Amino acid sequence: MPSRLARSAIAALLLAAPALANSGRAPGSHDRPEHPSGPAPAHAGSAPHWSYSGEGGPDSWGALADEFKTCKLGRMQSPIDLGGADIEGRISVRANYRPGQMSILNNGHTVQVNFPDGSILSSGISHYKLVQVHFHTPSEETVYGVPYPMVAHFVHADHAGNLAVLGVLFEEGAHNPELDKVIKAAPRQQAAAHVVGGVTLDPARLLPASLAVWRYDGSLTTPPCSEGVRWHVAIQPVTASAAQIAVLHAIVGDNARPIQPRNGRLLVAGVN
Ligand SMILES: [Zn+2]
Repeated sequence: MPSRLARSAIAALLLAAPALANSGRAPGSHDRPEHPSGPAPAHAGSAPHWSYSGEGGPDSWGALADEFKTCKLGRMQSPIDLGGADIEGRISVRANYRPGQMSILNNGHTVQVNFPDGSILSSGISHYKLVQVHFHTPSEETVYGVPYPMVAHFVHADHAGNLAVLGVLFEEGAHNPELDKVIKAAPRQQAAAHVVGGVTLDPARLLPASLAVWRYDGSLTTPPCSEGVRWHVAIQPVTASAAQIAVLHAIVGDNARPIQPRNGRLLVAGVN
């Protein structure tokens, strides 16, 4: 029984998934330019444009539209600072990811790769299907106040519409060959999802060797900021070259929501 909130969260995330995105939009409603073709996400019908700076910036998200009010009123918002975990614990996280044909889009806020069925994230006894990965520069998450230059958010959903995210932090270092496939195909301007011919992306190659994670309960980090998202962030970062990070940053800009208060939420640092 996916709640209305969960459905709206998925619609917002699956920007390029017509089956989920074609509901709740009034005829003649405003089409934002980041969706030049195909159905707009459910929240685009009446919602104003949001951004990472200026009038539509993060401090205003909750006031931009009624369906964004959780951005302001929510008590379990993301991102959070990951320093100072409450406890250490064993957290069983397994990524059974498979290589697949790459479908990529630029929604005006980030570059996103959509995945075909077949890749699964297991978190404890819950299993989630990998839906998409997208990028933020710098990382939204900080560790004792310090961001990484980039983070990838792997977004997953279970059969009931519950969401789980796995964050992978990037530090500057060795060139990352798998990431290069994304960079080469990334639309420099807003563009609808399209399959990149002849390119297979293996999401497993974007993960660190260890999946020891920080674990907490949070939200989408973009409007509508829906809560009930199970967050995992790998403690071990991966690398990308300075040039790779610079190219992605040139495309997506500064697209990190500021750190949100933890409000007493439990933050677990995983050991394995
Ligand atoms: Zn994200």
